[in-house]
Amino acid sequence: MKRTEIKIAGDSPGTSYYLTCLKIGPDDRALPKIFIQAGLHAGEQPGMLILHHLLAMLNSADQSDSLTARFVIFPMVNPIGMGQFCLHHHQGRYNLPTGINFNRGWFDLFSMLSRNGGLAHLAATLLPDDAAHNTNIIRQAVSNALDNYKPITALDVQRLQVAREAFDSDIVLDLHCDDAALNHIFIVPQLLPAAQDLSDWVGAAATLTAEDSGGGSFDEVWPGLWIKLARHFSDHAIAPPPLAATLEYRGYCDVDDQMNRQDAENLMSFLKGRGYVGGETVAMPVPAPLPLPFAATEVVIADQPGLLAYHVGLGDVVAAGDVLADLIILDGPNAFVERHPVRAGTDGFILSLRCIKYVRPGDTVAKVVGKTPLAHRTGYLLEM
Ligand SMILES: [Zn+2]
Repeated sequence: MKRTEIKIAGDSPGTSYYLTCLKIGPDDRALPKIFIQAGLHAGEQPGMLILHHLLAMLNSADQSDSLTARFVIFPMVNPIGMGQFCLHHHQGRYNLPTGINFNRGWFDLFSMLSRNGGLAHLAATLLPDDAAHNTNIIRQAVSNALDNYKPITALDVQRLQVAREAFDSDIVLDLHCDDAALNHIFIVPQLLPAAQDLSDWVGAAATLTAEDSGGGSFDEVWPGLWIKLARHFSDHAIAPPPLAATLEYRGYCDVDDQMNRQDAENLMSFLKGRGYVGGETVAMPVPAPLPLPFAATEVVIADQPGLLAYHVGLGDVVAAGDVLADLIILDGPNAFVERHPVRAGTDGFILSLRCIKYVRPGDTVAKVVGKTPLAHRTGYLLEM
């Protein structure tokens, strides 16, 4: 296991951050490359404990020469976010000085290529019928585009360092969690059904698809480039997009040694099933439900402040109109007496709820996974 500490100069005088990158496996660039990170939203920490266990498993496999891929792991990919506290509370979702969500506004690689002449170069050099040749040319063009990118802030530098490792990976897994939730996955629909094994091994209660959820989230960057290139160069052989996904490992409080060790075991089984780790064959997992469009998931929000008294639990099946929670009203003439029902707007099941029950207007109360895309769910699909 090779450990690299990447120093990132802070934006304030006298400060700096250290981004740790661990590389495991044969040092052979011809082998598949697998990139895994946790803690991009720095307050979402089940993934860090999962990678703690996964690192030990990969290291052990490496020592017995059973890795047939090279692994790049960022177990804590956002040291800037890890250092953000306000009045004893960790603030890991947004960059505090700017309000930028750490998992929004990632590089649009296609636009970068378009701006720096990369697309014109590809038009002149891509072959009509040799996808492997074209992959090398495309990766070099992206590498050049990243070289030409001039970071300004510490956050820019942090993102660039991570992107340099992710852009040429065959698999990119970004480990997150929700508030209080069942395991689920966000992924672009073009990667399915080939990635069903990932959903199965993650034990995903839902695999939610969107080609562009509107926020430039990390997992969409890498396949997004290849999807756009295949459309732009439709008469050239363009390889299928890399497998990239956001893996939501339950909720904030689900940092649990035993549970997260099992999550790591399951990721190892996924990797063994794909042939990236040798050793004993693994039994098939319980199949996960088939993917559903993310636009069919209702994000139920509070329309006034109050205290949530839930009527439902995770996994419960609900119908449109069912009461998910009562909101205990906290101001006005009926404060502390009136209960205001919060209802489901679609048929489905409860994927996520919230730990902290005090809400204000616009706060998420629940996610209800439905099957039919909802008319109002277009454009920006994510939470803020
Ligand atoms: Zn997250």
